[in-house]
Amino acid sequence: MHILPVEKPLRLQNNGSLEIVFIGVGSAFTKTLYNTNLIIIKGDTHVLVDFGTTGPFSLPATTGLELGDIEYLLPTHSHCDHIGGIEPIGLWNRYVAVPFMKKKKLTMLITEEYQNILWNMSLRGGMEWNEMTSEGQALRFTDYFDVIRPKAISMLPRPHFIVELDNLRLELFATNHIPEQALDANSAFLSYGVMIDDRVLYSGDTKFDPTILEQYGSRAECIFHDTSFTPNPVHASLPELHTLDAAMKEKMYLVHYGDSHANIDVSDFAGLGQQGVRYIFD
Ligand SMILES: [Zn+2]
Repeated sequence: MHILPVEKPLRLQNNGSLEIVFIGVGSAFTKTLYNTNLIIIKGDTHVLVDFGTTGPFSLPATTGLELGDIEYLLPTHSHCDHIGGIEPIGLWNRYVAVPFMKKKKLTMLITEEYQNILWNMSLRGGMEWNEMTSEGQALRFTDYFDVIRPKAISMLPRPHFIVELDNLRLELFATNHIPEQALDANSAFLSYGVMIDDRVLYSGDTKFDPTILEQYGSRAECIFHDTSFTPNPVHASLPELHTLDAAMKEKMYLVHYGDSHANIDVSDFAGLGQQGVRYIFD
């Protein structure tokens, strides 16, 4: 893997290498970083994984891209730092990018269960009433988004789905993120991590969960893991991640971190993930 700075505007096509660009690496509350959201690029395919509250600002700031440039979106869970930008990108796509810029309708990679949660609990309030449909009805999720449905593979030890887009293979797995009291991914509220092309593990938001690292981390060549520098009931804390073996830590970049990063010792790890650079896996 090598790391290059983004030249703006970021090209959403490449020679077929797997490429990952974080448009933010911060937690929900940082004032100096953007929300942890990332773009995966391979060949002619790109997928934006999560688009939080800072997304409409971080996308142009870190990549030079605009809302209308994104075609595929994969939201992992409903916290605002992961989906807060979906209403603006969905509205922009429907009312500006498609009719005036001749862009494609946005496509969401989303399980049926999560589509229902995302629409009914978060997006409907701002998106269902604009113009009515030709049948005189409120707008629906599918008026804004085409859908590619990940296929369920297994429910144990955790719900696990696969979605393929051209040559890019994404495995979604449920994480134990929330609530604090949930004991495992099967009983937690819906939240996904992503194994990217069977090479790179993105933990999504999760409590410290060594079973994810046993199942996916051991075969990944690189890991991007969320962390909190201080004890946290719903995220993996840095002291917890420090207990992992050296080989796991050496290939682990930390993301979703707080403003105090300049004072934190991460020398056991690959480092702190950086926003606005290209991680390229040849
Ligand atoms: Zn979260």
